[in-house]
Amino acid sequence: MTQSQDIALQVCPYCKSPKVLYSFCIEGNEIRRCNTCDLIYRDSPISKTRILSYYRKHYYQQWGQDQKGPYRDDIYLDILSHIEGLGKKGNLLDIGAGNGQFLALAQEHGWKIQGQEISSESCQVAMEKYGILLRNATLKEMKWEQNHYDLITMVNVLDHLPDPWWVLENAFQALKKRGLIYVRIPNGHLHSILYRIVDAIPIAFLKTKLSKLLVMHLYHLTPQFITSLLRAKGFRSVIINNSKSSKVSTYPSFNKLDNLCLLMLKKSFPAIVNMAYKISKGRVTLSPSIYIYAVKP
Ligand SMILES: [Zn+2]
Repeated sequence: MTQSQDIALQVCPYCKSPKVLYSFCIEGNEIRRCNTCDLIYRDSPISKTRILSYYRKHYYQQWGQDQKGPYRDDIYLDILSHIEGLGKKGNLLDIGAGNGQFLALAQEHGWKIQGQEISSESCQVAMEKYGILLRNATLKEMKWEQNHYDLITMVNVLDHLPDPWWVLENAFQALKKRGLIYVRIPNGHLHSILYRIVDAIPIAFLKTKLSKLLVMHLYHLTPQFITSLLRAKGFRSVIINNSKSSKVSTYPSFNKLDNLCLLMLKKSFPAIVNMAYKISKGRVTLSPSIYIYAVKP
């Protein structure tokens, strides 16, 4: 399918622009990119009921193993070291807190923690393992405090949410003045380029293998999109950077070959990524995940 054949078949779910283009395909699902705001989204969106049901009942069973152990600790400690260089410690809300592992570390570092999590199984693990009581509710059900938090974190969460713009709006209200939002997401720009390359590979076996290294949940949030979105919701001083990869390079749910590919990528990538970021003065982020922080003025 060529781009020129299918312009304007849909409107962008965020900015409602009709200027949308076919970008690539994932298992028969067409993925489109908005030419106005740069949001990359599924042409046939999954219903909110199905999304809620999946994260409530199945996500932890499928991915719970990946959320445990030193693989995540590396990422979480890196996040805390970034945040702690930026301001004083205070009230922290973690959205999509999973099994509470990040909050447990944050608490050890002196933060007053609160967390929201939709999966009751994850909440149970957080209580049993760390003694942390998470709010077992959806973001729509949850009562959002106003002007209360010094920091709101979303670690690998925002691109799983059907309405990331609604969540950021509420996060803005919930933060104190000079409060900080910290978001870690897959690099939508990079994953889209790689998906387009993989899409063009004619060998099915190779295509399937390479696709496993790529990520798309509900959206690809590109640096351009997330910067504009945060500014539109009132945030300022938006900084985007390459997120460090974990030192442990295996996923329990991947087989040996998949983990070997992942390890090779992780070994070869950081030097190129950091050089591109420096040369472009922060405009080019090439790592598989990026982090963004911004301030409520
Ligand atoms: Zn748009």
